[in-house]
Amino acid sequence: MSILVTGGAGYIGSHAVKGLLDKGYEVVIVDNLETGFESALDSRAKFYKGDIRDNAFLNDMFSKEDVKGVIHFAANSLVGESMTNPLKYFDNNVHGTRVLLSAMLKYDVKHIVFSSTAATYGEPVRIPIDESHPTSPINPYGEAKLMMEKVIDWTSKAHDLTYVSLRYFNVAGAHPSGEIGESHDPETHLIPIILQVPNGQREKLSVFGNDYDTKDGTCIRDYIHIEDLVEAHVLALEYLLAGKKSDIFNLGSGDGYSIYEMIEAAKEATGQEIAYEIADRRPGDPAVLIASNNKAKDVLNWSPKHTDVKDIIKSAWHFHKKYPNGFKG
Ligand code: UDP
Repeated sequence: MSILVTGGAGYIGSHAVKGLLDKGYEVVIVDNLETGFESALDSRAKFYKGDIRDNAFLNDMFSKEDVKGVIHFAANSLVGESMTNPLKYFDNNVHGTRVLLSAMLKYDVKHIVFSSTAATYGEPVRIPIDESHPTSPINPYGEAKLMMEKVIDWTSKAHDLTYVSLRYFNVAGAHPSGEIGESHDPETHLIPIILQVPNGQREKLSVFGNDYDTKDGTCIRDYIHIEDLVEAHVLALEYLLAGKKSDIFNLGSGDGYSIYEMIEAAKEATGQEIAYEIADRRPGDPAVLIASNNKAKDVLNWSPKHTDVKDIIKSAWHFHKKYPNGFKG
């Protein structure tokens, strides 16, 4: 029996693959390598290069493999790009999920853990955000993820299929080996960008706005270590394999850090100065995003271990020192 990981060559997918393999699962990866990297693939897993929108490709893979559950990461994930090219997100993410689900039904695969996002909530109306918070996305990326959740939910109501949707807050950090980590091209995420400064690739960081209604004027986010996130995926999969009911969970640390606090933590984690300048606000950034993670703790028995944000930055730094250009070379 195998677990299929779609998007297993991407940042989160590649860490999930290692987490599953380390727990003794056999893993099959599907990735089109559009944004994932061949060097992030784990040689212990079986790899099928192809696109989840390609029905014949998926049918061929499912006919050869004994897949018992799917963890679905394959998606485009840049908020800014989704604003200028929304149809890419409704095609690859929403339509791709539809094709994947129909192949799962055809091959009687009954469980899916879905990689969702706090962007499904939109501008928060209360903090911390729990799973009953209204969903009102403010960009096509979040809208597409919410649509994917709903497509999965309606499919599960009509067919013999159960799911867990996991709504991530800000995922960061890297595998303890330092062999895989966060690598995007172009890079837009805060921690890898901060680390480009001590790595000598960027003179300074641009802080997107210091006039927010927060304690120091910069945006507050909830950073969760990739290792804790992966642990939650394995627990969610085991929850479904044990026959439990479909549900939605937030994955965050439950703590918020401002950009200035992240810069301070990065100084301590790297032992180097981090130069920065204040830039304009980035459109679409809410001032504060902090998760309530009680439901995942109570129902999945999840307990995040890396509660100090410095640990997250240190593990990212370990990877970025080894791979200063990410997986580009
Ligand atoms: N951010 C920043 N400068 C950068 C990149 C990000 O000030 O070069 C801020 C961004 O405005 C947000 C926070 O850092 O408040 C986290 O951004 P990221 O893109 O990492 O994640 P998001 O919260 O958008 O998912």
